[in-house]
Amino acid sequence: MYDEEIRKLVLDLGEPKFRANQIIKWVRGGIDSFDDMTNIPLTLRNKLKENCYIANVKIERKLVSEIDGTVKYLFSLFDGEYIESVLMKYEHGYTVCVSTQVGCRMGCRFCASGLFGLTRNLTASEILSQIITAGKDNNIRVSNVVMMGMGEPLDNFENSERFLKLVSDPNGLGIGLRHISLSTSGVVSGIKELAKLNLPITLSISLHAPSDEIRNTIMPVNKKWNIEELVNACKEYQKVTTRRISFEYALIDGVNDTPECAEMLADRLKGIMYHINLIPANPVKENDFRKPSIKNITRFKDMLEKLGVNATIRRTLGADINASCGQLRKKEGFRNENI
Ligand code: SAH
Ligand code: SF4
Repeated sequence: MYDEEIRKLVLDLGEPKFRANQIIKWVRGGIDSFDDMTNIPLTLRNKLKENCYIANVKIERKLVSEIDGTVKYLFSLFDGEYIESVLMKYEHGYTVCVSTQVGCRMGCRFCASGLFGLTRNLTASEILSQIITAGKDNNIRVSNVVMMGMGEPLDNFENSERFLKLVSDPNGLGIGLRHISLSTSGVVSGIKELAKLNLPITLSISLHAPSDEIRNTIMPVNKKWNIEELVNACKEYQKVTTRRISFEYALIDGVNDTPECAEMLADRLKGIMYHINLIPANPVKENDFRKPSIKNITRFKDMLEKLGVNATIRRTLGADINASCGQLRKKEGFRNENI
């Protein structure tokens, strides 16, 4: 809840105004139960219990990568659903990759998150709680957030917007919007809405293909909004925000990794200020998509560079615990894992 919503609630419950500040402090710190609010009288705690619930995520299980210390969490939600989140350590601090939905209905063929469709949207508090819980569990301050876990943030626009407001609230975690990236598979209506908010976040577009012909076969969203519409929305977005856009490009063996694809890609993105992240496709056991050979990955990057395109090959973190891009899922990800 926003501060002003908590203030209103306190007044609606017939309580003195100053209680709101006390409650806000507790809520922003992250509590597990209303009874943790030790300076709040029992009568008010009971009223809160009757009128609200705490949307915390609960750590069910966690896996720690032996390679790079990346932590993957399986969180349970108040209604028995499950999501995953990942905590990564970079030189510049800790980053949490949050989920925004239970499942995903976009159906990208290479991704584990959408295998079972969408169960439900996460509330803003449930998205926020992933960061608070991971931070507390490791006793660290999280400095960056990527909305790149399970789910399509722009298919859950209202809660994503609320989350951005809550996470950057100086009374709460106070994570600056400049330290937050939001990734979308190309929900054009949402990009247009987001442009209206003019936030200094980084917008990431999961493009993954340079032509409609290829993109249609791997990303059903392209049938609703094709590349031209997507690119135009990015241009409009950039006009308003003046922020550089990030394009994600998962390199899939034999699908989108030829030098011709690199040429087409550079051509499609003309007129945008952008950066490309190349992600060698991560394994998902339910599909046959494989990453290209190192030779072909380098060939693709070299071709882009030759065309003057700024591209980085994304380092894979948490490879030994299935914590990489596109590998997050509901509880199934933890089945048969020995923990
Ligand atoms: N739904 C949003 C947010 C998820 S971000 C989106 O799709 O943008 C997760 C990123 O990982 C996206 O860029 C997604 O396309 C990518 N991804 C999904 N499956 C992948 C896989 N198997 N290998 C590499 N990247 C993958
Ligand atoms: Fe959903 Fe993103 Fe996975 Fe596509 S890549 S299925 S949009 S989570």
